Amino acid sequence: MAGEPQSDCLFCKIVAGDIPATIVRESATTVAFRDINPQAPTHVLVIPRAHHADAVSLATEAPELTADLLREAGEVAAQEHVAAGGYRIVLNTGAGAGQTVFHVHAHVLGGRDLTWPPG
Ligand code: C5P
Repeated sequence: MAGEPQSDCLFCKIVAGDIPATIVRESATTVAFRDINPQAPTHVLVIPRAHHADAVSLATEAPELTADLLREAGEVAAQEHVAAGGYRIVLNTGAGAGQTVFHVHAHVLGGRDLTWPPG
């Protein structure tokens, strides 16, 4: 069922504390942790505690959590001191776009010049 923990989901395991992560921020509905393969000086993933596969699933199944996710991404940027210089919130959606973990996660990237278009 939408929102329920999935036993085979890496990020559900991070939420449960079964897999270690460097957590930088938590809220009642979200967890933010450093990406293990950082692509910028600041590279933090923000996830809902509830399992939703991708951004559109989240917006459809739990729209209030979509707002939580984006607000927390902004809080992470402020906490990491990248908000003033500009930062990127990335929601890879689907394997063809590079999504590898099917528990929605917002990448918060900052601390360097970010080029456009992304690769
Ligand atoms: O958007 P995508 O699904 O590719 O992003 C998954 C991200 O999760 C990757 O950037 C990867 O480095 C990160 N990751 C992580 N900790 C893990 C497994 C993956 O930070 N244990």
